[in-house]
Amino acid sequence: MDVIEAVAALRERLAAARRAGGDVGFVPTMGALHAGHAALIERARRECDCTVVSIFVNPLQFDRPDDLEHYPRTLPADLHMCATLGVDVVFAPAAAEMYPAPLSCTIEVGRVASHLCGRYRPGHFNGVATVVMKLFQIVQPDRAYFGEKDAQQLAVIRRVVRDFNVPVRIEPVPTVRERDGLALSSRNQRLDPEERKLAPALYRALCEARRLIAEGADDPERVRQAAIATIPRDQCLRVEYLELVEPDGMQPVERIEGAVLAACALWVGTTRLIDNLMCDSPRARVD
Ligand code: AMP
Repeated sequence: MDVIEAVAALRERLAAARRAGGDVGFVPTMGALHAGHAALIERARRECDCTVVSIFVNPLQFDRPDDLEHYPRTLPADLHMCATLGVDVVFAPAAAEMYPAPLSCTIEVGRVASHLCGRYRPGHFNGVATVVMKLFQIVQPDRAYFGEKDAQQLAVIRRVVRDFNVPVRIEPVPTVRERDGLALSSRNQRLDPEERKLAPALYRALCEARRLIAEGADDPERVRQAAIATIPRDQCLRVEYLELVEPDGMQPVERIEGAVLAACALWVGTTRLIDNLMCDSPRARVD
């Protein structure tokens, strides 16, 4: 496995892979790798001839300086995991390699970022879209793998690819969970044992929304309130949002019909966790 820090060296390495006639698969990450990331990497390994994983904690997408400062960084363990999974190339640039000078152009994401995380994390998706666009230009992958856990991020990336005609196939990968339903996340490391016990309340609330919707509930406000009501009243827990949105545009629905996405952000102590579930209503969508 090659571990590369410089853009120029990465381009050279990938030019050789392409000359060998292979498809390049790309898994962008911020490191602190876990089994969720492994699922993306395994898919890329199965479907592509050369698998590139990037590990870069992108300052541009952090809206809170303390979140950036405390974001877990575990590069040696990450490299070990990548090697075990058969990754061909890890791209692990320093911030100065990605941003040698202040950017004079950035991507501004539109309506798809107006709700959910986009509403509560100003500039976050602009930072995500900008770094992913840069990474796409650097790696020029045939396929890129993203987790459904970050559903709004996936929707944003699909828009970027469409709007800028990026020749890459976006491949979504289902969320990997702990046995109690908690979605794997690098931020779970920050939970203390008490908080870890409380954290699956996020998944359970989403399951309640999915259950009510499957039974035919059509009023989003009632479903929201019923789902929020399942979250224990504990001073450690605070719901930032729980919304029902249409899965492409990420806009809140006025009536539940067809497929809707239930998405939630829950603060557990000082850690912010997000999760979502696709819900199928028996009510046909009327367009
Ligand atoms: P991150 O390192 O958190 O930026 O995540 C890198 C990629 O891994 C993103 O596409 C995430 O959606 C994906 N990912 C993170 N957690 C999970 C999970 N539990 N299951 C599946 N994919 C995940």
